[in-house]
Amino acid sequence: MTATFIDGTKIAEDIKTEVAAEVKQLQQRGIRPGLSVILVGDDAASSSYVNMKARTCEKLGINSRKIVLPGSIQTAELMDQVRKLNEDDTIDGILIQLPLPKHVNKHAVLESVDPRKDVDGFHSSNLGSLLLGHEALVACTPFGVMTLLKRSGVNPEGKHAVVLGRSDDVGKPQAVLLMHANATVTICHSKTRNLAEIVRQADIIVAAIGKTALVTGDMVKPGAVVMDVGTNRVSDRATVERLFGSDQARWQEFEKRSYVWAGDVDERSVKEVASMLTPVPGGVGPMTIATLMKNTLVAARMRRGI
Ligand code: NAP
Repeated sequence: MTATFIDGTKIAEDIKTEVAAEVKQLQQRGIRPGLSVILVGDDAASSSYVNMKARTCEKLGINSRKIVLPGSIQTAELMDQVRKLNEDDTIDGILIQLPLPKHVNKHAVLESVDPRKDVDGFHSSNLGSLLLGHEALVACTPFGVMTLLKRSGVNPEGKHAVVLGRSDDVGKPQAVLLMHANATVTICHSKTRNLAEIVRQADIIVAAIGKTALVTGDMVKPGAVVMDVGTNRVSDRATVERLFGSDQARWQEFEKRSYVWAGDVDERSVKEVASMLTPVPGGVGPMTIATLMKNTLVAARMRRGI
């Protein structure tokens, strides 16, 4: 069997087009959704993610505000900034770009966001509502995975879904979303024994562990659907060779940037066994930002009760 690749870039573009159309409708009613992103420090990767989010907002007609704060900022000052945005009626969504510097209390800062503006879905109130199956803003990456499944015609009902990873941002909400979609869910983590044996039982695999190519073809049941959340930088030639052989596009990428992106799934061996697979890049990644835009729209509507 050769897996079909799920085109996350295309599906994300479709979602952004839908969001732009809805934003236009809101604008006709005098409403312009607004997203504010807080960037702390000068990490190049974080800064580039924030700029990408701002550009996407602008393209879709969403008002975007970027707030850059020094890396030396203290937790209380950062929380004050968040409170100002909570009270700002022109802002519907607040996103704090992670990671934060080590001296900042990440939990306290995330909890200071008004849950109605928590477009990342990280506030305990939204996570609790998600668990209870109530209306909530849901973390973008796991929600993006559910959208990819739906738009690829995969119904999790009655299937065995194995989620690799139990982080608050991805693994845990992913498992809850799959459970609500009536899958039977197993969650694996770094202390799981017989990982390969458990993964081999899955009809749907979601890999979110941050370990390059850990899921290999021999761990996958023939016909399984494999969603690869992992985004790992590979910067040594031997690993690029092992993972991608003579794949020209990957080598061109490597020569250009001196690294390539790879997922938690070994694409070469898994594509021979799975029925569907998300590529890295171009699978789950683009969905995260599209879902953020969607969440901003949802937050704008929810706050106004429309
Ligand atoms: P994280 O917070 O570091 O959590 C990793 C999880 O994987 C933990 O639960 C850990 O278990 C588990 N784990 C680590 N090694 C394992 C192993 N050998 N076997 C089984 N489980 C193992 O990471 P995250 O934030 O969830 O992100 C996971 C990956 O997704 C990363 O590559 C990240 O870059 C990527 N990501 C991508 C997007 C996107 O938009 N595409 C968004 C978010 C994250 P313990 O709990 O026992 O430590």
